[in-house]
Amino acid sequence: MDKISIKNLEIYAYHGVLPEEKRDGQKFIVSADMYTSTRKAALEDNLEKTVNYALVCEQIKECLLKQSYNLIETVAEKVAETILLNNELVNEVCVCISKPGAPIPMTFETVEVSITRAWHKVYLSIGSNMGDKKGYLDYAVKALKEDVLIKNVLVSQYIETKPYGNVAQDDFLNACIELDTLYSPQEMLEKAQLLEQGANRERKVHWGPRTLDVDILLYDQDIIRTKDLLVPHIEMHKREFVLKPMLEIAPYAVHPVFNKTVKELSDLLM
Ligand code: ADP
Ligand code: MG
Repeated sequence: MDKISIKNLEIYAYHGVLPEEKRDGQKFIVSADMYTSTRKAALEDNLEKTVNYALVCEQIKECLLKQSYNLIETVAEKVAETILLNNELVNEVCVCISKPGAPIPMTFETVEVSITRAWHKVYLSIGSNMGDKKGYLDYAVKALKEDVLIKNVLVSQYIETKPYGNVAQDDFLNACIELDTLYSPQEMLEKAQLLEQGANRERKVHWGPRTLDVDILLYDQDIIRTKDLLVPHIEMHKREFVLKPMLEIAPYAVHPVFNKTVKELSDLLM
């Protein structure tokens, strides 16, 4: 990946925990490494096809002056988000903010926060087997498309499937979704659960009927094993109602535990 960097951009701004920092302000120094591909722009020698660093400097300045924050952590977060949301060609950014005049009664060069933020490729499985099933799936898709921290939402066809597990219940309508997001895995899970709540889902019977189920199948090539989040989804390779719509939208997405593509997992299941 190529990198375009802005180094040590100086901005006088008003962030800090102390009242005098918010009142009098001080110098902040911002650096940003933006990961992108410069190849096309370079071959055509065309500014439109690359990241306009002058514009990014303006975006950073606006971000620092728009509002006062207590923490440079927050400032860094806002700068990273602004760069990723406003520069289509930037996939990943490393933002570094330092405050050489921080109120510390000692001799020091500077204090600094560095963060890396990026767009992440996520696959979701959505399903419904109660009430207006298509309506619930449509609602989930619409809500995902309207979220500013989500882009490039691609939806498979909705397929009808027989219920899974031993609970007698109505047939399901299922689909898979590909998207890019700035959410962390945990935040994506919270988003999924908010969608379920928005569809009036009540958690009663495990594997029982539900208005809307939203599961995270894959999050980049991450392997996550925490108490409330298992990614890749622990059952995805066994479920035809997941692999079939995945086969339609992402046959070559790789399951990072088995190191197999969706197509290979699907062939194994047949
Ligand atoms: P299921 O989807 O297996 O039918 P639920 O939707 O009721 O069951 O989810 C139960 C719990 O599964 C959630 O509270 C959530 O914390 C956990 N969970 C673990 N991994 C995932 C994942 N990849 N996607 C969604 N939920 C997950
Ligand atoms: Mg679920």
